[in-house]
Amino acid sequence: MPKEYDLTPKHVARVETPFRRIVTDFPVPESLEILRKLQTYEPAAMRGQPPVVWDRAEGFQVFDAWGNCWIDWSSGVLITNAGHGRKEIADAIAAQASAKLLTNYCFPSEIRARLVERLAGLLPQPLKKIFLLTTGSETVECAIKLCRTYGAKTGGRTKNVIVSYNLAFHGRTLGSQQAGGIPSLKEWIVNLDPGFVQIPYPDGFRTADSSFEAFENALRERGVEPRNVAGVILETYQGGTAAFAPVKYMQALRQWCTGHNALLVCDEVQAGFGRTGTLWGFEHYGIVPDLALFGKGISGSLPLAAVAGRADVMDLHPPGSMTSTHTGNPVCCAAALASIDLVVKENLAGNAARLGALLHQRLRALASRFPQIGHIAGKGLVAGIACVIPGTKEPDGALASDIVERSVEKGLLMFNPVGPGGGTVKICPPLVITEEAIADAVCALEEAFSEAVTVRAARARR
Ligand code: PMP
Repeated sequence: MPKEYDLTPKHVARVETPFRRIVTDFPVPESLEILRKLQTYEPAAMRGQPPVVWDRAEGFQVFDAWGNCWIDWSSGVLITNAGHGRKEIADAIAAQASAKLLTNYCFPSEIRARLVERLAGLLPQPLKKIFLLTTGSETVECAIKLCRTYGAKTGGRTKNVIVSYNLAFHGRTLGSQQAGGIPSLKEWIVNLDPGFVQIPYPDGFRTADSSFEAFENALRERGVEPRNVAGVILETYQGGTAAFAPVKYMQALRQWCTGHNALLVCDEVQAGFGRTGTLWGFEHYGIVPDLALFGKGISGSLPLAAVAGRADVMDLHPPGSMTSTHTGNPVCCAAALASIDLVVKENLAGNAARLGALLHQRLRALASRFPQIGHIAGKGLVAGIACVIPGTKEPDGALASDIVERSVEKGLLMFNPVGPGGGTVKICPPLVITEEAIADAVCALEEAFSEAVTVRAARARR
């Protein structure tokens, strides 16, 4: 169960570094009225994050209204690749908002044309057709529809199987949740579609066998005929752990999909727009999928998402049959164009690669000191610290929660742990973060680990 925070303010040590400042108790007593209002009027499910009341955010920092300031290692939820509150994005939004075009449905507009052209220009062949949507989950729904339409057209109605991976997260709508690989999230679904099949993800940590033979064996064990596979969908790295698949595996998967006329779908909702040290996450594998799905960092701000794909697949549905009310909203398009310009012009993928190397080096050093860290995964500016029971691969969700809570109280903001058993502390700062800020943030994380482990040891002795 995700943690729900105690809203009784407690005294925490004051912090003052060039990048972090904690000058109040936590949660901030003055913030309680806002927190209680949210508790009263929002569903309980919204209470999953540390009770930091965001007032403003700039670059790689988040501020509250009471003098506290955090280094942000969340980017919201991997949204603000180009940095929080970038003037260029805000100006583009303001300019479009005052240009008297706030919406236009699927009617043509110049700004939507510019955005799809820009995205197609940045993406490799054959990802040259772009369908704009609003959320990541919608892009997954669209991919499922395209895979099955393509499957039916090329192999008949039985070519409908969507293969995905254990522990995968693709969203919370009916289809995207079924493509996901977390059984507890599907308990509300009455008739699980038997055409969704999950297999082990070759993370090389919890799944020891990361060879491609394991893919074919898993399909055999599940009774799936390769010719009936319409598509294989995977996160370019698994969001819950930050684990990448082996390059060889992905290249073999690319070939397998081509050989069996199944569509390969990379869900880049987290991985796109420079996060992993390359503009697109799939570049690490030296492959190009048939469909790529984007969200979050595409605009760095307003809700926008996109499916990019092969023209023959994207054109399967006739005019008027693949639409969305807010497709390519002009204000969201303006935000995306401005954010993409920043990511490209400032070479933020390069920054993610350079600073990511430093971050991962520091994290590996931390792991060598604490046997409670089972594994460090990720590339560029995404990392997952797997907290485990020492000597095992058993996730330690309580420790991970404690680490996040202590870090937040020291001015290092992260979202609550994710992944198996809630044991992954996830690190994903805006890509504009600096070397000095990473070093300062790692100091806070180290303190959090030392304190958490010491407190546990003392409790165990009692
Ligand atoms: N795919 C991936 C890989 C994600 O991480 C997420 C969101 N965390 C989604 C899809 C769903 O996106 P959204 O919340 O915008 O629907």
